[in-house]
Amino acid sequence: MRTPPLASGPEGPGALGPLLDTVLDALQQGARARGGPLPAGGPDAVTERIREALGDVLPDKGDRHALHVLVRAFAQGAADPADPRCAAHLHCPPLAVATAADLAANVLNPSLDSWDQAPAATALETLVTGALAREAGAADALVTTGGTESNQLALLLARETRGAGLRLVHAENAHHSLGRAAWLLGLPDPVVLPAPAGTLDPAALDEALTDLPGPLLVAATAGTTDAGLIDPLPEIADRCRAHGARLHIDAAYGGGLLFSTRHRAALAGLEAADTVTLDLHKLGWQPIAAGLLTVRDAHDLTVLHQRADYLNAADDTEAGLPDLLGRSLRTTRRADILKIAVTLRTLGRDGLAALVDQVCATAREFARLVDTHPAFELHDRPTISTVLFRPADATDDTVAAVRRRLLTDGHAVLGRARLDGRLWLKATLLNPRTRPEDLAALLELVEGNTPR
Ligand SMILES: *Cc1c(COP(=O)(O)O)cnc(C)c1O
Repeated sequence: MRTPPLASGPEGPGALGPLLDTVLDALQQGARARGGPLPAGGPDAVTERIREALGDVLPDKGDRHALHVLVRAFAQGAADPADPRCAAHLHCPPLAVATAADLAANVLNPSLDSWDQAPAATALETLVTGALAREAGAADALVTTGGTESNQLALLLARETRGAGLRLVHAENAHHSLGRAAWLLGLPDPVVLPAPAGTLDPAALDEALTDLPGPLLVAATAGTTDAGLIDPLPEIADRCRAHGARLHIDAAYGGGLLFSTRHRAALAGLEAADTVTLDLHKLGWQPIAAGLLTVRDAHDLTVLHQRADYLNAADDTEAGLPDLLGRSLRTTRRADILKIAVTLRTLGRDGLAALVDQVCATAREFARLVDTHPAFELHDRPTISTVLFRPADATDDTVAAVRRRLLTDGHAVLGRARLDGRLWLKATLLNPRTRPEDLAALLELVEGNTPR
């Protein structure tokens, strides 16, 4: 077999063109074979088809049809977030332009652990993270793989600036990655405050901050994963200031509201946080991964400084080569910034705001449909783009069974959330192309699959 072509270099474009045609054709065939938001038949059926497409994982002789066969099976067995009936998670349909830009990052493969592997990517990342940090009222921002890594880094920076005995305080509504990060960093067990209304209660926080010995880190949430609720950020920031506690805001979901003049007021108080988690593979329509952690005081980042002679020798740094190792805990690091930069420039603030406003309006419309439908109960009006609902008079077991039936039949992907002691169906609406008739059809599907 002759040496396979490379993605970059003089023969790159010529080799990639036909391969991309193959991929696009396989994606189309796979989607057609699926015929819905996800494959019917559940895990066994999907595994069987993948097993068949894959065959021998590492055959002695290669197969030039593998690209088409595997991409087709991959697409046939996918849950497609661009289908209006796929609305379970903070799992967005990526923009075509962002995905195209990401291809360029794959082709050139810059690695952001040293300038000599990523000259343009370094400059781009510096400029774009700076601008996004300012957008959130912060001084600087690091690129991460998502909310989990951002939260972890936030806890690490807090521990390094405030001391090893740092204790995390958060409410029940916070993301599970925060507790895990505390465990990973060897911090004391977090203090978890009850959140009966679904958000962090400032009075309960005040009491905890009065009683607990420091140093303390409070983690608030702007856009809870289950319900899209936003903690009262200004009040929380006031309490933290009064008690000298550090504040982290997990805006993995809600951070996207910053782009919208109409909705950004919901994030008032964000600028008071020492660190903020943002996640543009949620309300930012980026392919995974596209996370950020903003820091209010850029000096906090000095604790991440690391020296490795082959990447950032002191004399290279002195001679003016950017020192990148302190921008992440990772070493090899892909240029996720390119697709973000291209998206911001292509859509502009207006274009992004229109997407944000659209999905929020879609959620309000879905909530209205639920609320006026006699067979359903609405949990509450949406704060962002999450709607919790359930068939009226159903048991929790029925709610769980409806969700699973829709999944295994390949009809719809809805999430679930336990709130107020009951199980709810969760629709996380992140698809700006979803139309009112899609929402009505989705509700009809749920009604038709609810056992009576
Ligand atoms: C999704 C989410 C996270 C985790 O982000 P990943 O990108 O999945 O790692 C953290 N916090 C909140 C509030 C989230 O919704």
